[in-house]
Amino acid sequence: MDQLGLAADFQAAGPHRYRYVDLHFPRTHRRIRLPEDGWGLSRLAFDQMLLDAARRAGARVRQEKVDLSIDGGAVVEARGRRCHAARGARLFGFKAHFAGPVDDAVSLYFWDSSCYVGVNAVEGGAINVCGLAPEDLLKARGFHPEDLAAGFAPLQSRLGGLERQSAWMFTGPLLFDSRLRQPPPSPRTYWAGDQLSFVDPFTGSGMLAAVFTGRRAGLSAAAGEDGAAYLRVASASLGGPRQTSGLVRWAVRSGLAETLLHLTPESWLFHWTRPVLKASGR
Ligand SMILES: Cc1cc2nc3c(=O)[nH]c(=O)nc-3n(C[C@H](O)[C@H](O)[C@H](O)COP(=O)(O)OP(=O)(O)OC[C@H]3O[C@@H](n4cnc5c(N)ncnc54)[C@H](O)[C@@H]3O)c2cc1C
Repeated sequence: MDQLGLAADFQAAGPHRYRYVDLHFPRTHRRIRLPEDGWGLSRLAFDQMLLDAARRAGARVRQEKVDLSIDGGAVVEARGRRCHAARGARLFGFKAHFAGPVDDAVSLYFWDSSCYVGVNAVEGGAINVCGLAPEDLLKARGFHPEDLAAGFAPLQSRLGGLERQSAWMFTGPLLFDSRLRQPPPSPRTYWAGDQLSFVDPFTGSGMLAAVFTGRRAGLSAAAGEDGAAYLRVASASLGGPRQTSGLVRWAVRSGLAETLLHLTPESWLFHWTRPVLKASGR
């Protein structure tokens, strides 16, 4: 936000401040002190802030489906993640806003090898509850994500004090996918955000990666830098979170996550899930 000149706008949007991440597993709970504060801001507020800033900076905004092939010049593509997968085991994301007591932690609940839930406050004291689960499991629970909590006391206890304020929203299928090693269709095409690399949301680094690569892609396009050179910078920045989320997914599936959690120094857990921003070179 500092690099974009938007630090004041960001704070004016009233993000909720975090100091901790609480990781809950069936046999373990670990609280991690964040080395720097984290911030909770809804996409509604964040996207509006970015859009207003783009307009102020002179961007002409067209809110419609754009055919990206019409222009032969530089194109920054940020169309989001790909969503095609075989039925059944497909992963879906869900979220709703709740009212209730807020705290200064992002709480993540892992109790099943296939799904998890995160709870954190955003601006205005709203509490965002979101998670991931396979469609078969959601279907079996009648698409009531609250019912997933039945098997896990810490999550039940956290949700017990909250009142849902919105309908559940679902998104998916989710594919953890990357184009970091794929040659772009033209030397002046720059992929950014989830279109370039979508990592498991528990890392909480998707927005950071999207803003970082979006900014960097814009700078590369304006400077006429080759798309392959941009991809090398993006790979150096995003490779860590990708590998970490793959490793954590494997550890959760194989039941080793709790053991590894205790063996891993706190600062590593944080840094391994962050894009390396100093590699931006600009
Ligand atoms: C369940 C869940 C929870 C998450 N939680 C967090 C979190 O706590 N913290 C965090 O940092 N990240 C989180 N993420 C990840 C984060 O949402 C993404 O990394 C981020 O949204 C990526 O932004 P993006 O702009 O690349 O893609 P998107 O937000 O998907 O935006 C792409 C946009 O492009 C539009 N589009 C597509 N094609 C065209 C076209 N041809 N013309 C015009 N428009 C087009 C789409 O409609 C969409 O609006 C979460 C993700 C999920 C699924």
